[in-house]
Amino acid sequence: MFSLYIHTPFCKQKCRYCAFHSAPADEMQKEQYCNALLKAIENAEHRPCATLYFGGGTPALLGAERLARLMKKIRQTFGLLPDAEMTIELNPESTTPELLSALKEMGFNRISLGVQSLCDKELHFLGRLHSAERAKDALSEIFTAGFQNVSADVMFGIPGQTEESFSSTLDTLLSFPITHLSAYGLQWEEGTPLGNAPQPMEEETEETLWLLLCRKAKEAGLEHYEISNFAKEGYASKHNSAYWRRTDYLGIGPAAHSFLHGVRYSAPEDTAAFILNPDPLQNPLPIGERDAYEEAVMLGLRTKDGIPLSLLPSGFDFERYQDFSYIEHNRFILNERGFYLSNTIIQGVLQ
Ligand code: SF4
Repeated sequence: MFSLYIHTPFCKQKCRYCAFHSAPADEMQKEQYCNALLKAIENAEHRPCATLYFGGGTPALLGAERLARLMKKIRQTFGLLPDAEMTIELNPESTTPELLSALKEMGFNRISLGVQSLCDKELHFLGRLHSAERAKDALSEIFTAGFQNVSADVMFGIPGQTEESFSSTLDTLLSFPITHLSAYGLQWEEGTPLGNAPQPMEEETEETLWLLLCRKAKEAGLEHYEISNFAKEGYASKHNSAYWRRTDYLGIGPAAHSFLHGVRYSAPEDTAAFILNPDPLQNPLPIGERDAYEEAVMLGLRTKDGIPLSLLPSGFDFERYQDFSYIEHNRFILNERGFYLSNTIIQGVLQ
């Protein structure tokens, strides 16, 4: 299985918590960037894509015409398998019916919408550009345009967020026929405006929100298939599953990662440098036996499939983790409480 990721490092404005490589850009930079992507696509080793993912940043800022050029080039070079999953990330403020109909025409069949919250106070705190009303309208427009496989991103742990406000966000989101939900705890990254702001939410409150999320997703028929992801049956993200299963993928763009033939690559976080030399495989990071083992444990324990018992160290203390895990089909799997404490448990396994 082969997956292709195309990165767009542009955003209208930085969200207050964002540590990703993204910045505003003018039309000339967008054109230069699109040409660099086309060159990288042309020069890559071509294999038919089982999944294609346009992420960012805000891919929509490239505009429909450039996105169509990129899609055409990908079809001509890599090719797409007949049932390929083709996702594009959208933000509510840049989603329009015209753009959606162009994306449909290009063949995208999955939308991932950055909702984050449906409470205006929380959106304002995060520095998002959209309102709750715009996010709901964008969701309606996506379904009206005929997309059936739709994911929404939400955040918990936002200061001021309460059980009531998070519950209301989830209820409204889940009243739409979304097939997938991604949920992330707000991170206070150094170097972001939020990194210097007053303290994050208390851990106990955050855990309450997490358990609320797990319960509401379950009630809505979404399976918790990875720590941060929930899906209706048959709608788990094939693209992200490729990362967790360690199958081959190529990421094109600054700060994009690739994993090909057992070697990882990480492109520099520098858009100007990428425009000058759009080679995604400049920095190989060979993986030793121990690295491969640690990756398999870390990535496996993030998912509902867990890891084979054979990957656990000899003398592993099952009793210590009995409230957070279970064993099924000779696999060690974390339960929901275990997912919440996964970092600590993974450290325990890898000791
Ligand atoms: S839209 Fe996403 S990538 Fe862009 S600034 Fe906000 S969080 Fe960062």
